[in-house]
Amino acid sequence: MRLKDYLKLKNISHIQFSKVLEISPVSLSRYINGERFPEKKTLVKIYNETGGFVSPNDFCFRDEKEYFIDEDEQKKIKKIHNHIQSGSRKYLGKAITLIESSLKKDQIISERLLEQFKGNNKSIRIGITGVPGVGKSTFIESFGSELIRKGFKIAVLAIDPSSKFSGGSILGDKTRMEKLSVNKNAFVRPSPSSGHLGGVAKRTSESILCLEEAGFDIIFVETMGVGQAETEVYNMVDIFLVLLLPSGGDELQGIKKGIIEMADIIIVNKADGQLKKSAEITQREYKNAIHIIKKPRSYKNIGVFTCSSLNLSGMEQIWAFIESFIKERKKNKEFFVERDLQKIKRLWSFVDFKVKDFISNELISKKEIKEFLENVKKNKLSLYSAARAISNYMIKK
Ligand code: GDP
Repeated sequence: MRLKDYLKLKNISHIQFSKVLEISPVSLSRYINGERFPEKKTLVKIYNETGGFVSPNDFCFRDEKEYFIDEDEQKKIKKIHNHIQSGSRKYLGKAITLIESSLKKDQIISERLLEQFKGNNKSIRIGITGVPGVGKSTFIESFGSELIRKGFKIAVLAIDPSSKFSGGSILGDKTRMEKLSVNKNAFVRPSPSSGHLGGVAKRTSESILCLEEAGFDIIFVETMGVGQAETEVYNMVDIFLVLLLPSGGDELQGIKKGIIEMADIIIVNKADGQLKKSAEITQREYKNAIHIIKKPRSYKNIGVFTCSSLNLSGMEQIWAFIESFIKERKKNKEFFVERDLQKIKRLWSFVDFKVKDFISNELISKKEIKEFLENVKKNKLSLYSAARAISNYMIKK
C-alpha cells in the first residue's frame, strides 16, 4: 500500500515517522508525493517499520488510475447516499444495482459509497430457508405484512442465483410477494441474476448495509434450502428460520440435516385445512428432537412452531420468539459480538473475492502466465514451481 495511506491508517504523523526513519520531514513529504525516490537504506527501513505493507514497488507503481474517483463521481456518490438516507427507493435500487454490477468502475463507486455508511445495530437480519414450494414467499409476504402493521419497515433479499434455473425463479415466472412489492414500507429485491455464489453472497451482505442505511428495521434474506447458500446466509443474519412442510422426515423434504442444525427457529408451514393435524405431528416430532439437534446460536432453545401463511395463524408466536431471542442476545452482548465476527468474516471473504477476481480477470490472460501453463502441460515446468512463481507474482502485485 502507499505510505500516505499507511500513515493515515495507523494515525502516524509525518513528523513522527520521519524521526523513525531518521530523515527530515521535508524528505519524507517528497517521497510521499513522488517527487523523489527514497534511498535503498530508507526503503528497507520503511519496509521493516510498516511490517512489509509498504514495499519499494509502492513507490514505483501506483494504482491510482484504477481507484481514482473524479469529482463528478464523488458528487454522484454523495447524491446516492443522501437519497438513501432520506428513504428514496429509486436510489436504493440504484445503489444495489451498483453493488451487483460486475463492472470495475461500478465496484469502486459502490465500495466508496459503502465506506460512507456509519452502520448500526438497530435492524434485525432474518435468514429464511426451505425447499422450493414450502411457502417461503407466501410466509414472508404474510409475516412481513403483519410486521408492517406493527409499524416496521421491512426488506427482502433473495440470494440464490436464479439464472441456473429456467432463466427465472425455480418455479417459473410467478410473481413473488405481490402485496409487499407495492407497499411503501417494504422493499423486495429478487436474486442477483448471475454469478458465482461467493460473489452473490458478498453482494447480498453489502445490499443489507444499504437497506440498513435506508432505515429498514427488518431484513429477510431468503435462500432455497437446497445447498451451499445456507451457510453463507447463516453468516450474515442474526436469526435463521427453517421452513418445513407438514409431516415427512428431512430426507423426504429434501432438506439437508446440516441445514436443520443451523435453525434457530423451525417452522412447519401450511398448518391449515387437512394438513393442520400432520403439521402438529411434525412440530411434536421436532420438539422432541431438539435436544439432539445442535443448538446453533446460544439461546434457551430452538423455537418450533406451526403456522399457516395463508390464514396467518402462528405469526404472533413466531414474532414474540424472534423479539425475545434478539432482546436476550442484545442483553448478554452476544448479538453485537456476532455482528463484529460477521464483519471480519466479510472482510476475509472480500479479500478472497478480490484474489479470485484478480486471477480470473487479469492473471489468466497474461502472456507469461499462459506460457507457464503450456510448460506445465508439456512437463517442462513442474506444477509446484509454476504455482510458486504465480503466487509470488501475485503477492508482489
Ligand atoms: P416457495 O417456493 O417456498 O417460495 O413457496 P411459495 O410461497 O411460492 O408457495 C408454494 C405454494 O404453497 C403456493 O401455491 C402457495 O399458495 C402454497 N402455500 C404457501 N403457504 C401456504 C400455507 O400456509 N398453507 C397452504 N395451504 N398453502 C400454502
